[in-house]
Amino acid sequence: MTPIDDTHDPALRSWVESANDADTDFPLQNLPLGMFRGAGETGVLRAGVAIGDQVLDLHAAAGAALLDDAVAASLGGQLDGTLNTFMALGAPARQALRSALSAGLREGAPRQADWQRCMHAASSVEMGLPCRISDYTDFYAGIHHARAVGKLFRPDNPLLPNYTWVPSGYHGRASSIGVSGQTFRRPRGQTKAADAPMPEFGPSKRIDYELELGLFIGRGNALGEPIAIERSEDHACGVVLLNDWSARDIQAWEYQPLGPFLAKSFATTISPWIVTLEALAPFRSPFTRPAEDPKPLPYLDSADNRERGAVDIGFEVLLQTRAMRAAGLAPQSLMQSNFRDAYWTLAQMLTHHASNGCNLQAGDLLGSGTQSGPRPGQGGSLLELTDGGKTLLTLASGEQRRFLEDGDSVVLRGRCTRAGYRSIGFGACEGTVLAALTG
Ligand code: MN
Repeated sequence: MTPIDDTHDPALRSWVESANDADTDFPLQNLPLGMFRGAGETGVLRAGVAIGDQVLDLHAAAGAALLDDAVAASLGGQLDGTLNTFMALGAPARQALRSALSAGLREGAPRQADWQRCMHAASSVEMGLPCRISDYTDFYAGIHHARAVGKLFRPDNPLLPNYTWVPSGYHGRASSIGVSGQTFRRPRGQTKAADAPMPEFGPSKRIDYELELGLFIGRGNALGEPIAIERSEDHACGVVLLNDWSARDIQAWEYQPLGPFLAKSFATTISPWIVTLEALAPFRSPFTRPAEDPKPLPYLDSADNRERGAVDIGFEVLLQTRAMRAAGLAPQSLMQSNFRDAYWTLAQMLTHHASNGCNLQAGDLLGSGTQSGPRPGQGGSLLELTDGGKTLLTLASGEQRRFLEDGDSVVLRGRCTRAGYRSIGFGACEGTVLAALTG
């Protein structure tokens, strides 16, 4: 697994002053990758790295000979507006880039004026998708969510018997994935009230969010060649926050027998910066299970996975209604949870996905499933926080919610914190529900 090295030294400071703020998501120890262009521009997206409140243009840095030839060559394919080619190179290329950036951006580094000319204020750029996402799969690795939602549908049997054995997932829709700032129309679809004789077609009345982590694949595998769990993280690039927007009334009517379909495919929002596996190295934790639960089958088990398969990522969900925005009120926190509590690790999900020979490709996205915590009030969706829409959530503004209203914005946040290491964050993953299409 990814080693801890001098790029994680908590004493490192950057000559980019804002990167030294205690609260920044993007200190020198993070260095997440994304694609950007000037706000309002229409040109091709450029590869960048977030540092404090700045974005470093990697092409410009390569062009100014600030990166050595091998690192510059690894970025050479990026002028197509995606990171896929670089991601496919895997960990060695990411680690070489990380080392070069860590050296060039730290205090006392030479050629600071040259680096500075490759920087843009983050407030002056807009972010695009970091890569071309050919396939998107959403897992169901949050057991507290699975149990809470299962209880709503099957009070006597909340967790299906395969849950503790199989990392379940469904194949999601890649074309409707957008980055933070995404807006989408409230979808229309078929719904059926329990006591209605037949379904109706119209705007969903139960729009919800799901707090998830997204894993981007780096190096792919050939069709027919599974990925052993001991090597699964060689195929992972990094993670983002992911909001799997869900229309619960459409979902309830359509989900049997083949699972989610139009209830999920209308929009998915991710945070724009890929936090690399290298940046996450200090925040790894042991993967544990309750003693009474089955041990994972051998193909989903390894010493490394047991010792540090989990990742300690603190999550938060915030809501800002249209009225709150108009009144200048900040988004209100609804809950907090931690990715440590996931029932399956990233390595297990990745290995399971390829275990039948399915080929994963650079830029494929794997969602973690909703990351609810074990305690009441830690539901990662409104479905849980309002007990299936039966109770009302009262906001500080005095407004109440069962599900999302038009104009509501949901913000996901994530942050890794561990004593002895510099905290890193993800930036915002924000999306807004607009009124339904009419007609
Ligand atoms: Mn989901």
